[in-house]
Amino acid sequence: EVILEIKNLNKSFGPVKVLKDINIKFNKGECHALIGENGAGKSTLMKILAGAYSKDSGDIILDGEKIDATSPLAAREKGISIIYQELSLISTLSAAENIYLGRIPKKKNGLVDWNKIQQNAKVFFEEVDLNIDPNVETRTLSVAQQQLIEISRALSLNPKVVIMDEPTSSLTDNEIECLFKIIRKLKSQGITVIYISHKLEEILAICDSVTVLKDGAITGQKDIKDTTKSELVNMMVGRSLDQYYP
Ligand code: ADP
Ligand code: MG
Ligand code: MG
Repeated sequence: EVILEIKNLNKSFGPVKVLKDINIKFNKGECHALIGENGAGKSTLMKILAGAYSKDSGDIILDGEKIDATSPLAAREKGISIIYQELSLISTLSAAENIYLGRIPKKKNGLVDWNKIQQNAKVFFEEVDLNIDPNVETRTLSVAQQQLIEISRALSLNPKVVIMDEPTSSLTDNEIECLFKIIRKLKSQGITVIYISHKLEEILAICDSVTVLKDGAITGQKDIKDTTKSELVNMMVGRSLDQYYP
């Protein structure tokens, strides 16, 4: 079942075409890798999906509906959340406050019910096995814990699609295992994960399918079970692994 489709999408920055006629279908509940060398256009494509950049042409169809989000919050409300490589928490706000960043809290008798917000945040933190005090300022937390807060924030709006841009670049092996456990749980809940990484071993371990970008165009789309590391390298750089390591 296709949950998200990108059709004939194009994007230029000034005279430079950075995405050329991109077509991708994402299945419900799969982990879909997006790979390619630096500058291939991965982040630009994901920022367009997540409402941070506009596209020049093409369609984005989520759950049968054409969407054209003009802000990250609009995209999140439609069901697409992104977790950036550079974490975007506000370090002097509490963990709970960060969950609600950019949203206007409901008021009761003219006041924000912070107790309720903290209780809700705690439920989202438990979803990702994060045992922290919701009142703690996020600057005191580890990178892995901050990333879990970002994932909690993504989950707080019932996403259909969660995009993770190079999610393991500052994680230890143990933390990567925890992240993979969360990804498996999201998949079992029917949430689609788009996983951007250079780390092919990780992709072969956790993803179901892969799209390869090179210079803004798709050079391959594969089921993970039907591909190899060597084939992925070849599609990424246009050379086989043997030529890479003669
Ligand atoms: P990747 O994530 O695959 O490394 P990017 O999407 O970041 O690739 O970049 C694709 C191309 O678009 C690169 O040539 C990059 O320099 C260019 N680019 C990305 N963002 C901008 C921007 N805001 N303004 C101008 N050029 C950009
Ligand atoms: Mg890059
Ligand atoms: Mg990038």
